[in-house]
Amino acid sequence: MVSINKKKCIGCGTCASVCSEVFEMSDDGKAKVKAQKNTPCVKEAIESCPVDAIS
Ligand code: SF4
Repeated sequence: MVSINKKKCIGCGTCASVCSEVFEMSDDGKAKVKAQKNTPCVKEAIESCPVDAIS
């Protein structure tokens, strides 16, 4: 399961741009999971997050 630590997320938007199937930016300026999918870009997003907020 993919989850985002909203306390850590700085709202940079990287996860939503590398993996838009799974992540989107929320109204609060943080990322959110829009669909639980096991696609390769999830790993890419985890590795790209500057604050390690995705697990
Ligand atoms: S890449 Fe990380 S810090 Fe950036 S929006 Fe996504 S979860 Fe937040």
